[in-house]
Formats: sequence, structure tokens, C-alpha cells
Amino acid sequence: MAAAPPAASRPNARQPDVYRLRLPGPTAVPERVRDAMARPMLAHRGPEFRAILAETIELVRPVFGTRANRIIVQAASGTGMMEAALVNVVAPGERLLVVENGQFGERFSAIGKALGAKVDAIVVPWGEAVDLGEVKRRLDEAETRAVVVVHNESATGVVADLAGIGRLLKDRPTLLVVDSVSGLAGMEMRQDEWGVDVLITGSQKALMCPPGLGLASISEKAWPVIARDSGMPRFYMDFRRARDAFDKGETAFTGPVPLVQALNASLKMIHEEGLANVYARHARLCGALKAGAAAIGLENFTRAASQSATVAVFHSPGGLDGGQIVRALYDKHRTVIAGARNKLSGKVIRIGTMGAVTESDILTDLAHLEDVLGDLGLKVKRGAGVAAAAALL
Ligand code: PLP
Repeated sequence: MAAAPPAASRPNARQPDVYRLRLPGPTAVPERVRDAMARPMLAHRGPEFRAILAETIELVRPVFGTRANRIIVQAASGTGMMEAALVNVVAPGERLLVVENGQFGERFSAIGKALGAKVDAIVVPWGEAVDLGEVKRRLDEAETRAVVVVHNESATGVVADLAGIGRLLKDRPTLLVVDSVSGLAGMEMRQDEWGVDVLITGSQKALMCPPGLGLASISEKAWPVIARDSGMPRFYMDFRRARDAFDKGETAFTGPVPLVQALNASLKMIHEEGLANVYARHARLCGALKAGAAAIGLENFTRAASQSATVAVFHSPGGLDGGQIVRALYDKHRTVIAGARNKLSGKVIRIGTMGAVTESDILTDLAHLEDVLGDLGLKVKRGAGVAAAAALL
């Protein structure tokens, strides 16, 4: 298979003309979204931006699955929004029950500890889902301010049973805090129905925007907790300020105007395709990638029954270090996938199936994988992965 031209032969080595961004975030940004970002700058409190912000919030509402929640939009990465969620709900010394079944659950625990909360982690083997009976048992043990869960664990491909956890909290004062940074807009989210109180996300994954925009949708149950005087000290991340600004149709501080324009455009694309179709496409493409990968000896890492539609995680095959595969795909094809930056480092490879992904992306991923796995010395039947995926598409 022809390799990508070497960097030196390309007119601008920093902007390669062959560059396939296939990470589980950030993801490729469609041209229409990039165009929206290139529009003239607007006054952040002027009528034009207010109209775009208001429309964007209404467009994102069905993606969150909330009819009436306030939806906060601000400049922040996903981690910024994770911290914002916790600093707004927990007071020093209060208990957080964190589901730790991957890198981002661990990050939630680390943030909670840094804030002085009493973090009680339910540690689950990576690749598996938490047992709801254990969540209930831990809830019954002690008063808990919030259960903290990652909807779609990008490190392992496990999807949490938010509806089940939400049911456990229905008649308790405990809040449900959820990170759907890598799930939202690629998989169903029914915030109101499932009883999610603080739902955070970032722009750079299934929402098809560049990184930098954070969103939080906050339930009525959560506001009295957020607004109490005994909460944590906070300023930029204070949802009370964001709420007051939201109620005036503004952002509390200077909003990232081009990113809101981008999100507005990407949400229009999502609604034009139809939300149900978007979810079905994610599931179909992720399933096809896994089937193709299985045909060339890549074993699915995720063991839980409820698996991601936005990221596929595979064991590194044949004694290879995952980093070798990641590097070979980049060097030969400028196909950019992820390994792991955690305890699975070297052991897995991860490929995003979120956002503006098409059938041809998946077939090309598999062709490139077949090629480099062969180069790295594995016995791979060329075409077997592509054929297995194509049979499903
Ligand atoms: N949560 C999840 C599930 C993620 O996948 C990520 C990033 O990959 C984050 C949080 C952190 O987001 P960021 O890198 O934008 O801070």
C-alpha cells in the first residue's frame, strides 16, 4: 500500500495534506463547522451573539435530553468541566461516591480529593461496568453528596447504566454527576428521564468542534446544592454566576465566540441528519470496525455488555506494544489513532468512531491496520478486515 508522502516532500510539513485524525477526540472538524468559526468576530454581549447563543442552547437541548435545564456554555476543556461540576456541588469534607472504572473515573477521584471532598471510590476492573448492587450498598452506608460517573469511559469503551444509577438516587438527596465528554452526541442521553443532575461535556468529540468549549446542563434538584453558602470557594467556575448570566441570555465572562459559532453549525448538521440517525451511524460504524478488527486478530478490550459506540479499544496483538502500531500508522499513512496514557499504556490501541465519521473512514482504518500489522510481522490476511466490516455496512 502506498505510504503518505514524507514530510519533507510536502509544501507545508506542519499541515500535511494527508492527515487522518482518528482519535477518540479531538476529532475531525467538518468544513461547515470550520467555516462558521471563520466568520467576523462578534461583540460577546451584542444582539448577534446573543441570538446565536440562545439558538445553540435550544439546539443542544435534545442532545442532552433535557426539556428545561439551564445549560451553561463556557471556555473550558473537559477536565475543566469535571472540576467545575465537583467544585459546585461538594462542600469540604462531604462524601463523593466515584465510580472508578477507568482513567476518567480516576481523574474525578483526583479532582475530588484535590478539592478536599471525602472521596469514596468504587474501584471496578477496567473494561467492566459497575455493579448497581454495590452502588446501592455504598449509598446505604453513609450520607453522600453525589454519585460521580463517567458515561462513556474513553479509556476502556465501557458505557455506564445511567438510568439504573439514576433510579437509585430518585428518592435520595444525593445528586448524580456525569461526564459525557466522549459520549454526548454519539450515544443516547436522556438527562431528565435518567435523573442526571449535573451533566458535563466538551466540544471536541462527537460534537465535531475544536477543543475549548465546555457545557454543563444542570437540574432543578442540583441548584439549591450549588447555591448554598457553605459550598466550596470558586470564582470563574461558579455556576451561580453562570446561572445569572444564562438568565440574561449571556455568558458570565467573555464567551469563546468562534467556538459557539462552531457548535451552532455542528448542531445544525446533527439535526439535519436526525439525532436517531446520528446514534445509529455511530453504533453501526463502531460495530463494523470491531468486526473488521476481529477478523485481523484484534481482540476487543471492553468486556462489559454495554459498550461504547464512539470509541473502540483493542488489545495490542501478537506481543506488539500498542505504541508501535500507533507510530507505524502515523509514519506510513498519517492515520492518527491513540494508545493509552495510563496503566494500559502499550497494551491497547484506541480508535474514535465519533463525530464526522463515515463508512469510508472505517474501511480505510482497517486497510491501514492490515498494512502496518503485516509490516510489524503479524500474519494478517490482507483484505479480511475490510471485508468483514464491509459485510456489515
Ligand atoms: N472525560 C472523558 C470521558 C474524556 O474522554 C476526556 C478526554 O479525553 C476528558 C474527560 C478530559 O477532557 P479534556 O482533555 O478536554 O480536558
